[in-house]
Amino acid sequence: MSEIIVLGAGMVGVGTALALQARGHAVTLIDRRAPGQETSFGNAGVIQAEAMEPYAMPRAPLTLLHYALGRSNDVKIRWRDLPQFARPVLSYFMASTPRYHAEVSKVYARMIAQVRQDHGALIDAAGADHLIQRTGLGEIYRTDRALTPAIQDAQRKAETYGLNLRVLHGSRLRAEDTAIQGDIAGALIWDDSWSCTDPGALVQSYADLFQQRGGAVQQGDANSLHQTGNGWQVQTDSGLMSAEHAVVALGPWSGVFVKRFGYKVPMVLKRGYHTHMTAPSAPIRPYLDAEHGYVLAPMRAGLRLTSGAELTGQNRPQRPDQLSHARHAVRGLIPDVTDGDGAIWHGHRPCLPEMLPRIGKANNHPGLWFNFGHGHQGFTLGPTTGHILADLLDKG
Ligand SMILES: Cc1cc2nc3c(=O)[nH]c(=O)nc-3n(C[C@H](O)[C@H](O)[C@H](O)COP(=O)(O)OP(=O)(O)OC[C@H]3O[C@@H](n4cnc5c(N)ncnc54)[C@H](O)[C@@H]3O)c2cc1C
Repeated sequence: MSEIIVLGAGMVGVGTALALQARGHAVTLIDRRAPGQETSFGNAGVIQAEAMEPYAMPRAPLTLLHYALGRSNDVKIRWRDLPQFARPVLSYFMASTPRYHAEVSKVYARMIAQVRQDHGALIDAAGADHLIQRTGLGEIYRTDRALTPAIQDAQRKAETYGLNLRVLHGSRLRAEDTAIQGDIAGALIWDDSWSCTDPGALVQSYADLFQQRGGAVQQGDANSLHQTGNGWQVQTDSGLMSAEHAVVALGPWSGVFVKRFGYKVPMVLKRGYHTHMTAPSAPIRPYLDAEHGYVLAPMRAGLRLTSGAELTGQNRPQRPDQLSHARHAVRGLIPDVTDGDGAIWHGHRPCLPEMLPRIGKANNHPGLWFNFGHGHQGFTLGPTTGHILADLLDKG
C-alpha cells in the first residue's frame, strides 16, 4: 500500500483516485476547485462507446482550405493566436497519417471497449443511475449528400468493432424521437453509447463514492508540488500533504504544469463552448448535427448545445460564433426551441498530437506519474485510464 496524491479532480483524476483506492492505496485527491467543475463539467456528457477511433486531423487539402477560410462550423482558427498553437497542431497534422491512425485506433478501441463496464460499476456503486440515459448517441444528416458517405463509414466501424448501429431515415427518426421535427435526410444511431444529464454531478458523485470508501479530497494548488527526499509534497488548505507518488491529472493544464519539471508535452487545446436552450420536449438522446458541427444534448439544465473546436490561446476571451451558428441551426430540428439564460461556458479538450492520453511514469522523476491528454473523450475514458494508470503504478 502506498500513499498517493492525485492532482486534478476532473473525470480523469477522480477515476484514477478510485482505481488506485480499489487496489488498496491511500489516496488524496487535490484540486483548486470542487470535483468536476472544469472540462468535465462543460462537455456534452456522452459516454462514447462508439468512439473506437480517435479524431485525426483532416489532411485533405480542400477540407483544410475550408477550415482555413473559416467556412466550417466544426473548426474555427483564430489566426492571430497562431504562435500559441502552431507547433502542436503541426505535430498533430504530421501524426494524422492513415497508417498511424489505424495503429493508434487499435489501442484506442481496446480502451473504449471497457468504458461501459468501468462507468457502469461506478454508476451503480455511487447510486448515480438517475443521471444516465442508455438511449444511444445520434448523428443527424440534413442532406443525402452527407448521409450516404457517413453510412458507409459508420457501417465499416460497426463491422470492425462490433458496434450496434441503426440507420434511420428522416420520418423514422421523427417517429422515434418526437422532439426532432426538422426535415432531415436521416440519422445514424449508435445504440451502445450512454449519456449523462449532468456531467459535473456525475464526477461529484464518483468523488463522493471515493470519500465514502475512505479517500480524502482536499483543496490546494498543484503548482505547490515539489519533490522531497522520499516522495512528493503539496500544499493544501488543510496543510502540507506528503506522499510517495503523485499523479498529474490536470486535463488541459497538464502540459504547462509538467514543463516545470522539464517535460515538453505539446498539447492541442481545442476550445469548446456550451449554452443551454429550452425545448418544449427534450430529445431522447444527444445528437451530433453533423453538417452544422455541434452537439445538442438533453441535460437537467436544459438543452445543451456544445460547439466544435476553436483553435485559439488558452486564455483568450470568448468568441462564441460557433454557438451562434448552432443556436440558429437547432431551430431547423426543434422549431419551438427558445433561448435559455444566455450564459456561455467554455473549456478546452486536452488533446495530444499522438491521439492517445499520456499514461504512465515520468521518465526522470521517481514517483511522478502522468494521466492526461484525453482529448475529445476524457469524460468517457476517465475510469478506464484510471485502471490503466493504477496497473502501471502497481507494476512499478
Ligand atoms: C465542448 C466539449 C464537449 C465535450 N464532450 C465530450 C463528450 O461528450 N464525451 C467525452 O467523453 N468527452 C467530451 N469532451 C472532452 C472531455 O470533457 C475532456 O476530455 C475531459 O473532461 C478531461 O477531463 P480531465 O479530468 O482530464 O480534465 P478536467 O475535467 O479539466 O480536470 C482537470 C482538473 O484540474 C484542476 N486543476 C487545474 N490546474 C490546477 C492547479 N494548479 N491546482 C489544482 N487543480 C488544478 C482543474 O480545476 C480541474 O478540476 C468534451 C469537451 C468539450 C470542451
